[in-house]
Amino acid sequence: MRRCMTSLNMFRLAHIPMLYRTFKAVTRYETGMANVPVHFPNGDVCCRWCPMFLRFEEPFERYSCRLTGDWIADIGARQEWCPLKFEEV
Ligand code: SF4
Repeated sequence: MRRCMTSLNMFRLAHIPMLYRTFKAVTRYETGMANVPVHFPNGDVCCRWCPMFLRFEEPFERYSCRLTGDWIADIGARQEWCPLKFEEV
């Protein structure tokens, strides 16, 4: 009996890719990368000047970072977890 169940499970697993194709599900992803410059005026490096990633969430009346998805409490500072990298001068 146990052997039958295992065979049945193997049969099902083997057909998962076909099922994905049948129902137009995502079966793989291509991944792209980009370097996006963000310019902070006069060396004032804070979220306020980050138009690319700072977003005001109307329903919550709070700011969030599009890059990380985290809430931003103070847009006058750069968050501790900010993923932007700066070139050493
Ligand atoms: S945390 Fe960094 S990337 Fe996100 S909004 Fe602030 S400065 Fe921009």
